[in-house]
Amino acid sequence: MKKKSVNLAVVSNNTLDSRKAVSLEHYDISSALQTTLEFSELIHIFSNKIQSFIPHNAFSYHNDDFNLDISKGITTKNSCTYALKVEDVQLGNLKIMRNQSFSNEEIKLLEELLCCLIYPLKNATLYKQALGMAYTDPLTKTYNRAAFEDSLSREIKLAHRKSNHLSIIFFDIDHFKDINDDYGHDCGDIALASAATCIKDMLRGSDVVFRYGGEEFVILLSDTNIDGAKKLAERIRRSIEKHSIAYGMQIIKLTASLGVSTLRGNDTSDSLIKRADQAMYQAKKNGRNRVQLESPVQLV
Ligand code: GH3
Ligand code: MG
Ligand code: MG
Repeated sequence: MKKKSVNLAVVSNNTLDSRKAVSLEHYDISSALQTTLEFSELIHIFSNKIQSFIPHNAFSYHNDDFNLDISKGITTKNSCTYALKVEDVQLGNLKIMRNQSFSNEEIKLLEELLCCLIYPLKNATLYKQALGMAYTDPLTKTYNRAAFEDSLSREIKLAHRKSNHLSIIFFDIDHFKDINDDYGHDCGDIALASAATCIKDMLRGSDVVFRYGGEEFVILLSDTNIDGAKKLAERIRRSIEKHSIAYGMQIIKLTASLGVSTLRGNDTSDSLIKRADQAMYQAKKNGRNRVQLESPVQLV
């Protein structure tokens, strides 16, 4: 009897100690997770912090909303998978993996510790959504000029470092003012959104379109030389020319002028943009509804 109670006391002490450890760990995990709003960092920190409680060999995290796939380690046959969600906000799927199966206690503990991850993931989600809004043009649902400037300077540095090609296309709708004047500003807005969709439909996954301003768009083509950019610009031009916009009983047709430039050794964002812009104006001068390449390098 005495022995039993001693045993019980030991068990109870162990439980108490491990509870204390877990609640300290809760505090430690929560503090560590408050240091970042990056999904990848959050998941890596969480995995590191739970390692001593729930040893695991690998994890994977997938978030459909932001097209995120984050993983570490080699997939094993035993796993625990959680679809994370709070207050109707989807926070992605987390899978923890290892060779041995997980005990019920470990699963229970993992579920307790996951509570530390939920709100940091929600904050990361809200932050990413806010960034997306700051970088998106509400009318055309393309990225905006601020996003273009950030992306272009990043892509230029990368292309210079890796000696990759990089090209841009400047796109300007022809006589767009006439659409506003003839059919009204609302019709102009619909035409702009429709032209943006038409451009997006022509692009590969790695090409990105931005609204540069008014009725002007710019398309950023990483790893693309001048010939590739010219072909794409011509495809976009033809697609816009064929495109019809229904506005009430009216059918509206558009054309566009496009200028193309490609990265040179000493280029900055400004010089690359300037050549595409000048080429676009040359296309206007040459009669509109056409593609114009940048002027060739001047030999001295
Ligand atoms: P060009 O062929 O020389 O490019 O002629 P354009 O009429 O397209 O060029 P211009 O620069 O004279 O006019 C651009 C027009 O685009 C004028 C402006 O009111 C219109 N615009 C700019 N942003 C918007 C917008 O968000 N919605 C609408 N409806 N119109 C816009
Ligand atoms: Mg313009
Ligand atoms: Mg125009």
